[in-house]
Amino acid sequence: MENLIWIVIVGTSIWVLVDAKSIGVKKGQIKGMGNIGPWGWFFVCLLLWIVGFPFYLAKRSEYKKINSTHDTEQQMKEIKLDCNACKTDKTMKATTIPKFSGFIRFIGFLIAIPSVLGVLFAILMLFSTGSATNEVMSSAQSDAEAAGAAIGATIGFGFAAFIGFSSLIGGLIGWLLLMKKKVFKCIKCGYIMDRG
Ligand SMILES: [Zn+2]
Repeated sequence: MENLIWIVIVGTSIWVLVDAKSIGVKKGQIKGMGNIGPWGWFFVCLLLWIVGFPFYLAKRSEYKKINSTHDTEQQMKEIKLDCNACKTDKTMKATTIPKFSGFIRFIGFLIAIPSVLGVLFAILMLFSTGSATNEVMSSAQSDAEAAGAAIGATIGFGFAAFIGFSSLIGGLIGWLLLMKKKVFKCIKCGYIMDRG
């Protein structure tokens, strides 16, 4: 069951590495403590997950903003294309729209919100099981009592790991359903064209 915790830590750290690379995170983009590259974030999450992972999530939007305004997205916004649907010149503008329909996005929200709560719940439970076990263990009068505490801890940690792991998977699915795609959209007729 410690294995499950490691799977979660390693799994989310790898996600951080991949996500930071895809956003275009580089050292020197932000000031202060978070001024590290994708591999830096990977190791911070791996070695100090409880601090590193929430910290990355908090800094993520800042990185996204810097990387999108800096180059491609801002340049894309300047470009206007001719619309093939209504045959008007320069009415297609770069924008983002939800990848999926309203109903699927609604399901995405339904999955994503409890997933976030589930992860928080699992983290809390890990800590409370840990401290409760230490308390019982230190005051246990007999082997049986200590064994009981060990079994209780195993169940508690296992349950927390299970909740945490399924919440992470749920959160990932929810996030996929809420993703946006980059398109050109005609401001006159609403015609939409995917951009690479
Ligand atoms: Zn049009």
